[in-house]
Amino acid sequence: MLSFMSPPAGDEPPMTSSLRPYDEALLRLAFDLAKRSREAGDHPFGSVLADGEGKPLMEQGNGYSAAGNDRTAHAESLLASRAARAYDLADLAKCTLYTSAEPCAMCAGAIYWAGIGRVVYGLTEKALKALTGAHEENPTLDLPCDIVFAAGQRATEVVGPLLEDEAAQLQADFWRTRG
Ligand SMILES: [Zn+2]
Repeated sequence: MLSFMSPPAGDEPPMTSSLRPYDEALLRLAFDLAKRSREAGDHPFGSVLADGEGKPLMEQGNGYSAAGNDRTAHAESLLASRAARAYDLADLAKCTLYTSAEPCAMCAGAIYWAGIGRVVYGLTEKALKALTGAHEENPTLDLPCDIVFAAGQRATEVVGPLLEDEAAQLQADFWRTRG
C-alpha cells in the first residue's frame, strides 16, 4: 500500500501513512458498485464519494452502456461532475473518492477540477492494463494518477493500491469475454 500527498510542484512527495479506519469498508462499497455495473451490462468499475468522517455521500457506477456507449463515462468522472455540482470546494477538499481502479488521466483531471481532496483506489492502472489489454472499449490509459495530481495547484492525497486482489477479481474474465 502506497500513500502520499502530492505536492503542488517538483520534489519527492513526502511518504505518509494515512489509511483511515473506514477506508477498506468504503473501498469495498465501490467494489460492490463495480459488480452491479458489470451485472447491468456496463464495465466493472464503481466509485463512492464520502465526507471527512467516512459517511458515504454519493455512489456511481460506470456509465458506458447506460450513457449510450459513451467511452468517457467512467465512474470517477461522472461522480466528480456530480460532486462539483452538489458541493463547494471547501467541502470537497475534505472528501474522499473511493474507486475500484486507479483513476485514469481523464478522471484524475476531473477529480482535480472538482476539488476532491483525497482518492483511495483498489487496482493500479498498470495491473488493470494487464487485464484489459488493448480492448476496444477499454484500452487502458496507464498513467499513475499521482503524476496528474502532482501537476496541479492544490494537493490531492492518494492512497493505493489497496485490496488489490479483490479489485482484480472484479475484472476477472470480463474483458476476454466482452465482445
Ligand atoms: Zn477514467
